[in-house]
This record gives sequence, structure tokens and C-alpha cells, in this order.
Amino acid sequence: MDVTFLGTASAQPSTTRNHSSLALRTDGDVWLFDCGEATQHQLIRLNGDPKTLAVRDPMDPNAAAKDIVPPKMSRVSAVFLTHLHGDHCFGLPGFLCTVGSVVRIGEERDPIHVYGPQGTKSYVRGVLDATQSRIGRGIVIHEMLLPSHLSHTDDLELVAKLSMTRPPHIDELEGSDFFASSFTTAESMNPADWYWTIITGNEQGKSGASRLTVQASPIPHTVPTVGYFITEPQIPGRLRADQITPILQRNKAALGLKNPMILLSKIKNGETLTMPDGTILVPSEFTEPARRGRRVLILGDTSNAEDSALVKLVDELKKPDGTFNSNAEECLVDLVIHEATNSCLASDIATGLTLDSVESTTIEHGHSTPQMAARFARRVGAGRLVLNHFSSRYKGDADEASLLVMEEVRQLAVDVFGNDRVVCARDFMNVSVPSK
Ligand SMILES: [Zn+2]
Ligand SMILES: [Zn+2]
Repeated sequence: MDVTFLGTASAQPSTTRNHSSLALRTDGDVWLFDCGEATQHQLIRLNGDPKTLAVRDPMDPNAAAKDIVPPKMSRVSAVFLTHLHGDHCFGLPGFLCTVGSVVRIGEERDPIHVYGPQGTKSYVRGVLDATQSRIGRGIVIHEMLLPSHLSHTDDLELVAKLSMTRPPHIDELEGSDFFASSFTTAESMNPADWYWTIITGNEQGKSGASRLTVQASPIPHTVPTVGYFITEPQIPGRLRADQITPILQRNKAALGLKNPMILLSKIKNGETLTMPDGTILVPSEFTEPARRGRRVLILGDTSNAEDSALVKLVDELKKPDGTFNSNAEECLVDLVIHEATNSCLASDIATGLTLDSVESTTIEHGHSTPQMAARFARRVGAGRLVLNHFSSRYKGDADEASLLVMEEVRQLAVDVFGNDRVVCARDFMNVSVPSK
């Protein structure tokens, strides 16, 4: 599993940072999170010249030895929008037209799925209709709706907003809409209680992205915005064939089996076997402990992600005694990707700004500082934090001056996070999420 950043800019793109988008890849399947302007260009450019453009994982000691294989556009099966601000979705129509035109003859129709907050249907249908665009592959749009009690509200303005939708696009297949569940009472009016379970693939035996579960929760921003929590199912422990083999072999004659190893599959299926020499093969005694699946949190723009059900979703995963160890091996969440639009650097302090003043303006605009991102990452027991979505003041190239500024930004988060596992995203940076 890995993440490739395709755009790391906030509102204004620059020559060194494109608008927001990242690709999560698992066993070849690719999911995009946000699709800012020129996301498809970024994918085309990266695939065209990975040797020059790709930025290796700064925290992976083996990164240099690994081949760079960028995510393929044709592999994208779903796009998840965090919110409908243009810097996160203006690239979607063009992207859909390109990937949507690839219809594999003779194969089952393989529509592209788009997930987003309420309003996503209106946006996608509107732009595709107005430009008379066709998506030959088919498109399915899923919306995260407010809790059902709010859709029956007397608030006329809200009702008007909710029903502000357009008829389906000609190439659209019916999707699923999701009403929010609540951590407290079903009638809770507090968005920090709400979450959606939008994909439940949490089953062993599935492969690729289809085995992942995706949940989302509202996070505070200036428009409805969500953070996504992606979890992989537990990975069953391996059977210690090396320990069982000698036992089976020494009972081979008494068992009357030419190949006693065929019994391995029975043990694998949970059967306890008693050998002729009296040895009892109890499957659990010959199985390595199960390992937890990987967990990734991808947040949209936010001024306070701690005030969200994401924290509660993660808390549910804590050990029964409520503890967790925040080292990289035993963290609760392997990777947190959090925005850090504005920072208070030494150069800002020199002009009379203070951390408090920068933080309050940042929050006013619905955004976060590196320290706020780090507080959230600490709160959810993150193993690693990637800072993302930078103001155009923070350049994303490899010039020494740019890298020095970004190191100062990174250090602000390190100080609060309490360890060095913090990275500032750059366009085309690849970050791996190894299995436990
Ligand atoms: Zn943004
Ligand atoms: Zn925004």
C-alpha cells in the first residue's frame, strides 16, 4: 500500500505545487482522494518520466533501491472528494472524461465511482451536462447525506439545499447514498458525533482495494468537509508449517499416507488432529498471531479535526485497557495526512506576527497550522504524519532554500508530535504504508 501525492497546494497553485489530489494504491487498485485542477496532467507527467519527477519516501530506508512505478490512471476505480471547494474538485470533469472513455470491449462495464459530500451529484451532473460530456465506462455518484432526522427538518433553507439536485447524467448508474450514523443519540445535532460507513470490504480473502473499509466523518471547515478513514482487515497469522512438518513426517507410516503434508490444509481450516504417536496438533498452537491491518487517515481542509468522530472511530480500535503505544510499530493509525496551510516561521515572527495571531487567522479561514496537525496526529496515535495542502508561500521544489523553509515547517509539527516521523508532502512524493 502506498500514497502518491499529485498536488499539495492550497487555494492557489504554483510552479512547484499543483492543486490537491493524492493516489492511494493497494495491489494495483488506485483510489484518488480529491481531484484538483490538472490532476490528470500530473498522472500523465509522472508516468511519462518517473525517474526525473518521482520524489522518494524520505522515511523509507529502502526507497532508493526500489523501482519507481507510478500509479496508473487506467487503474483508478474511485475518486473520493473531501469537499467541493474548487481547489479539490475542478480537475474531476476532465479526469472523468479521460478515464471514462476507456471502455474495454468484451469486458463487463466497469463504471468509475465518485464519493463526496452532499452536492457532489449536482456538481458532477451539472458540469457533465453543460459540456455534453459522455462517460462511456459509466459513472456512479455516491453522496454522504446528513443524518436522516435532519432531512425531515423544518429548516426550509436546509431542505431547499438538500433537494437542490439534478436528474442523473445519461451515463450514470444508480449509486448508494449514505445517511450518517451517530456515536451518541440518533438525533444528535452535533456533527462531531456523525460518521458514514461507505465501503465495507472488511473481509479476509478479498484482494486489492475491495478488502478495505472506508468510513468518513465531518470535519470543521468553511463548507461541509469530511476526513476519510481507510482500514484493512486483520491479516491472519501464518501456519508454522516448519514446526508441523517433522511431526507429520514421523507419523507418515502409521498414518498410511504417501504424502502426510495434505493434512496441513485441515489444520489450516481449524481442525485439531491427533497423530498415531499421541501428538495433538491444535491449530492455534501452530499459528503465528494475527496482525492488524493497515490504517490510513486522509483529511480534507479543517480548522479542528479533533472535533470530529474520526477521533471516536480511532478510539474504538484501542486495546481493551485503553492504551496504545505511539511508536511506529504499535501505533493506532499508520499514516495521517493532514493539511498545514499556514505556519508561523521565524521570518513571520520577525515581522511582528505571533503563533497565536497566525493560528487564529488560519482557523478563521478554516485551516490548520503544523502544530494543529501534529496535535490531531498525536491524539489518534499516528505512526506517521504527512503535512499537506500548503499555501503558495511554501515552495515544493528541491531547491535548498525551499527545502530549508519546509524543514522549518516540519520541525514545528515534530515539536508537538513528539517524534521525528513527520514529512512535508511534495508533488510526486511517494509514501509507503508497509504491512505490520
Ligand atoms: Zn483546499
Ligand atoms: Zn477548502
